[in-house]
Amino acid sequence: MSEIVLATRGLTKRYGSAAAVEDVDLRLEKGQIYGLVGRNGAGKTTIIRMLTAQALPTAGEIELFGETSEKGLSAARSRLGAMVEIPSFYPYLTAAENLEYYRRQRGIPGAACVGQALEQVGLQDAGKKKFKQFSLGMKQRLGLALALMNRPELLLLDEPINGLDPEGIVEFRNLLLDLNRQREITILISSHILSELSNVATHYGFLDKGHMLEQISAQRLREKCRACIQLTVDDASRAALVLEQRLGTRDYEVLPGGVIRLYAWLDRPQAVTAALVGAGIALCGVESKNADLEDYFLGLIGGVRHG
Ligand code: ATP
Repeated sequence: MSEIVLATRGLTKRYGSAAAVEDVDLRLEKGQIYGLVGRNGAGKTTIIRMLTAQALPTAGEIELFGETSEKGLSAARSRLGAMVEIPSFYPYLTAAENLEYYRRQRGIPGAACVGQALEQVGLQDAGKKKFKQFSLGMKQRLGLALALMNRPELLLLDEPINGLDPEGIVEFRNLLLDLNRQREITILISSHILSELSNVATHYGFLDKGHMLEQISAQRLREKCRACIQLTVDDASRAALVLEQRLGTRDYEVLPGGVIRLYAWLDRPQAVTAALVGAGIALCGVESKNADLEDYFLGLIGGVRHG
């Protein structure tokens, strides 16, 4: 059975009368990389801050490693690593010196964890280089190393890819995949750009104006976003027969309301309509759909794509 690492029920945070997060049910199972996607101001940081106890929920429940009580949650949080923003590292200290400072400050036992964390993020060779000489990618990786020092089972990362160049994004993604697959760390990662997460996330939660609009697996999302010919017909079962018998394909999906999504014959929609009409099926609509992940998200939140 799948193990639930994190769940929230009715999680809500209000500032005055404004709700930053409203009634959010979130669910993460062990081994997932969960992409929390939402525009700026959607409530991503607020959710993560409530999970790490940096902010107190106005209402709702948090379950972490099966614990929901205040005492239980406090112990469970020691199994968490979080990177909510780049922590304030000392500019004149090296990567190892900065981590050692935080290790002592947080009372993490065993100095070996510093070297291990640096190795996990590929900074073992940063040597004498001072933090102020680091690229943004290196700074992000050091932030991640700090979150890894207590050997967490669940990592919470708030917009870690923000501002990285394309090469830095690829590096960071590979790093997360390694941590997930080789160290079996479950990861929640937030972003305002869905496509940035598309190569790593196994599941998504779409957040808008504090509300969770949909939670969906990456596989299901890919299926939903496949290019297709969308047909609206009077009799979907008969139309499906025509697709199979006359056009020789089973690569379609029947949706409610006489809608069929056909994933084959994409370059010959006329042949499809001719076959259906020829079999006496009334065709109320034909649409070629080229939806990609970003369009799906924008469709969900009712936004418009720019650029
Ligand atoms: P961003 O990527 O811009 O940080 P976000 O999705 O992380 O966006 P939050 O930072 O969680 O969004 O903010 C959600 C809403 O809550 C915003 O409208 C924000 O202005 C509001 N908010 C966040 N923190 C506070 C606070 N301490 N006091 C008042 N309002 C706040």
